[in-house]
Amino acid sequence: MNKPILYIDMDNVLVNFQSDIAALDIETRATYRGNYDEAPNIFSKMKPIKGAVEAVHKLAEHYDIYALSTAPWNNPTAWSDKVLWIQKYFGTVLYKRLILSHHKNLNKGEFLIDDRLKNGVETFEGEHLHFGVDYKNWQEITDYLLDKAVFYKAQTKKEEKSHIELNSLWLEYQEYEKVFIYPNGIQHKEEKAEHSSLNLARYLQDKLHCSLLEISTKRGLLYCVINDKKSENFEKIILKWQKMYSQSFIDFAKNKYSFDCSLIKFSKFKKIYTKPQEVKITEFNKPLPYFWGNLMSRWMRDRIYQAIEKNLEQME
Ligand SMILES: [Mg+2]
Repeated sequence: MNKPILYIDMDNVLVNFQSDIAALDIETRATYRGNYDEAPNIFSKMKPIKGAVEAVHKLAEHYDIYALSTAPWNNPTAWSDKVLWIQKYFGTVLYKRLILSHHKNLNKGEFLIDDRLKNGVETFEGEHLHFGVDYKNWQEITDYLLDKAVFYKAQTKKEEKSHIELNSLWLEYQEYEKVFIYPNGIQHKEEKAEHSSLNLARYLQDKLHCSLLEISTKRGLLYCVINDKKSENFEKIILKWQKMYSQSFIDFAKNKYSFDCSLIKFSKFKKIYTKPQEVKITEFNKPLPYFWGNLMSRWMRDRIYQAIEKNLEQME
């Protein structure tokens, strides 16, 4: 089970930044007044904030934790002091888990505890827990995150179940040729009549008696057509379509055992398909209105199919 990722800022969150300013000698204090973070070795002697060490150990049971801090650019000793400080107070729990960055928003994860909005905190894609403002101390933060951990555990169980269901459905179609048709990706290479991915999928379903699956994701739909009647024309048609349309979006699924293996070959889909619970497969065999005697719809369908066939003939 993957734990949610939690980043924790150092200064004034893990580190009691005020604790060492008082210990500076008068001369150093005068030199670096207003810029204490640039005083040599200032970071090495600081104490942890009350409750921080215990909280990190407790939260590490439920979260994948990283220290995410910004070190002053003009104070190189701060960079080495920070790693020594983490080693001293957090030993194995944060072993090789220190990230120093002025762009915290580039780190992907669920939570960031920080006392400021600077250095990318404001645009961090997960949830920012504002230390000292919305959460006064480590006790409040820990209570909140332990509650959240319960929710994440339940969510992960659901994801695992959905993942198993998807792959078992895929196994049923393992022996048949399959193609994915991705709606947003269809681009005509030449000036010809354009067809939607659903029309192309429906054409194969009706003309070659293929099965059709609709794969819905949070960011859109795609179709999977399965050649379960083993029509010889299936491959011929797909190869022609691949010459007419953007090939990355009409392509054969890999005949591997898992849904992931097949789907992952779509470069753009890789970005969408990050979590299994975002994907749902349904069999798409609902009759269209023309099956109920709607002549206009039937006429439209025939026109579309004729246009598809005309394009296929031109590709001979
Ligand atoms: Mg800070």
